[in-house]
Amino acid sequence: IKNKSRFNIWPFCAVRWRPAQLRLFCSSSSPDEQKPRPSMLRHLTSKIKATGPITVAEYMREVLTNPVTGYYVKNSMLGADGDFITSPEISQMFGELVGIWIISEWMGAGRPKQLQLVELGPGKGSLAADVLRVFRQLSSVVGGASVSLHLVEVSPVLARLQADALTGSSGEEADGDEDPVYHRGRTRDGLPVSWYRRLDDVPAGFSVFVAQEFFDALPIHKFQRTDRGWREVMVDVDPEKEEQLRFVLAPSPTLASSTLIQAGERRNHVEVCAEGGAIIQQLARRITDGGGAALIADYGHDGTKTDTFRGFKGHQLHDVLSSPGSADLTADVDFSYLRKTAGGGVACLGPVSQRNFLKNMGIDARLQVLLRSCADPSVRQQLISSYDMLMNPKKMGERFHFFSLLQLSRLARPTAPNGLKLEKNKNPAPLPVAGFTELQYS
Ligand code: SAH
Repeated sequence: IKNKSRFNIWPFCAVRWRPAQLRLFCSSSSPDEQKPRPSMLRHLTSKIKATGPITVAEYMREVLTNPVTGYYVKNSMLGADGDFITSPEISQMFGELVGIWIISEWMGAGRPKQLQLVELGPGKGSLAADVLRVFRQLSSVVGGASVSLHLVEVSPVLARLQADALTGSSGEEADGDEDPVYHRGRTRDGLPVSWYRRLDDVPAGFSVFVAQEFFDALPIHKFQRTDRGWREVMVDVDPEKEEQLRFVLAPSPTLASSTLIQAGERRNHVEVCAEGGAIIQQLARRITDGGGAALIADYGHDGTKTDTFRGFKGHQLHDVLSSPGSADLTADVDFSYLRKTAGGGVACLGPVSQRNFLKNMGIDARLQVLLRSCADPSVRQQLISSYDMLMNPKKMGERFHFFSLLQLSRLARPTAPNGLKLEKNKNPAPLPVAGFTELQYS
């Protein structure tokens, strides 16, 4: 792109957060060495020299999840000493309220006997650990169900941290390459936990899916409107600088630019996460067939933003094309695209802001309970500032959103049996979906 090899990233500066507070009861792991990875750059430049410029999606996929040198595969990037911090790492309240949401949806579905908790991209396992603690505390409610945990994770480094957090490292590796479960174990409460590389491999059945800051890590295609039509943005080697990458525009339409732009698109620059769309379609199909719900939490927009692709390293913005593999790459989630790809077979709720969702879930009451049981002034202060980080509209409160897929029947008003005339108000409303509507205390 002429004179525009770096996109303007200023409006997105405030998205990944500097850690203000560390999570209560969560020890942080030792920092991984954050060395540049010349092997990744060399791998990319030789690939491009051999076969031509690659799509941004291919670039992002290679940089993040290449099985040998990928950023997610090699690093433990989460936390004060990593590249970014996330809501579950900031406060235990986040995962606890997600736990309540899961139980509430399980109840809304008529308390099925089997409940699979499926998390996509579980990071350090903190969210799952907080969810399981809620399950333990509410065992009188969920005790009747047989609960299992299924984690979809590409990173062996993070999978190890997750196993430490959830099983205390007990567990076993898979027997062979054929087994889609590459690690399995039991939580401290005896619940079975299995690790998979792909959602495809998770067994069918009633499931509640959670994806927190997962979709923003999936590869995006980038497109630019030109006077000759839409053109895909590609990554090329800079002919003037050895070992330096640059953006270029494909001279003619690519498969992606011909198929991924929506009719009537008004923006001049568009990012499309086709992989995210494919995962949403899979979630929708699983929810329709087996029952359950999906809760997606991420930063994003509703089909309005243009250029959001950016890098993070040591809590600072990082040029997406320099030292590939040494920094996180991310793009805002386009919730309107997720809604479109979900199709009409499931109901979509949201996006609602993190602030509204957590308020509706009762975070204020939870904070009060934690404060009441805590005398240590520094811990009390930590609770208050982590609440502020999650909720403040200028911090994470308005930037992050919750979006949900539900079975259509979950929101359907029960219909009157044939020929029977129901009196007004006798036709019960469906149970409200927690988080997306204000809590009513009765
Ligand atoms: N949910 C966690 C971690 C977010 S970081 C939190 O909020 O703290 C993104 C997570 O998704 C990491 O665990 C990363 O290893 C995983 N991940 C990234 N791309 C993935 C992919 N294609 N398939 C499965 N997991 C992926």
